[in-house]
Amino acid sequence: MNIWNPWHGCRKYSEGCENCYMYYLDKQYERDGSEIYKVKTNFNLPIRKDRHGNDKIPSGTLLYTCMTSDFFLEEADNWRNEVWDMIRQRSDVKFWIQTKRAERMKDNLPSDWGDGWENVILVVTTENQKRADERLPILLNIPAKHKGFMCAPILSEIHVEQYLASGQFETVLADGENYEGMRPCHYEWIKSLYEQCKSADVPFTFVGTGNVFIKDGKMYRIPKAYHQVQAQRSGLNYPPVNTNVPMQAKCQTCQRKNSCNGCHWCGKCK
Ligand code: SF4
Repeated sequence: MNIWNPWHGCRKYSEGCENCYMYYLDKQYERDGSEIYKVKTNFNLPIRKDRHGNDKIPSGTLLYTCMTSDFFLEEADNWRNEVWDMIRQRSDVKFWIQTKRAERMKDNLPSDWGDGWENVILVVTTENQKRADERLPILLNIPAKHKGFMCAPILSEIHVEQYLASGQFETVLADGENYEGMRPCHYEWIKSLYEQCKSADVPFTFVGTGNVFIKDGKMYRIPKAYHQVQAQRSGLNYPPVNTNVPMQAKCQTCQRKNSCNGCHWCGKCK
């Protein structure tokens, strides 16, 4: 996964933010996730070159933008135009732009946005029915070449049939909750979304189970390393993906954990 974080830090905004993973990870390094700052070392990543003069971000990359903040965060208003300039320059890279602040999108698009840019996919996150009903109609009324939504961390069953019927959404994702205070993800909620997407013929990705997964009334505690594998094994992806996937090996650097997420155990995998 290729990530570009031009700024870092955020303000909690709705129910899905309660156990924000960015706050949790910052706390591991004795930092405060509510401190919002421009990431100077990484700010111009899409237009940086390596020592051979090649783009650091190769053509054709899908670049997940602002994954430790919110792209339409008010506190980032003074930095966003520069970011739009870089996105405009890199028309050969696709930018995944995700937000909970759907009502701020329209007024914070670039002046030459028109019907949208081919290299930008606008995505809103919708953790429950209330937020889906607030945010999805807003995104439907914004011109964009590519649109999607992500139910994460999913906190309830969510019905999106009417929004999928618009034909405007090209991707839907769902994920459980990780780290401190994680709330359970229910198999039935994911199955319902999967069936809604399948019947509307919209691709659906079950990204991960989260730490607590409930199926057939039983609660499963799933280590982070297995969230994605278990989601893939569930058969709840549309179109279908290979469900016969092995569990991951231990981290090759420290051999201690099954995966690394910049964990603080050995400090080598930051
Ligand atoms: S909007 Fe995203 S980054 Fe910001 S507090 Fe909520 S979950 Fe965290």
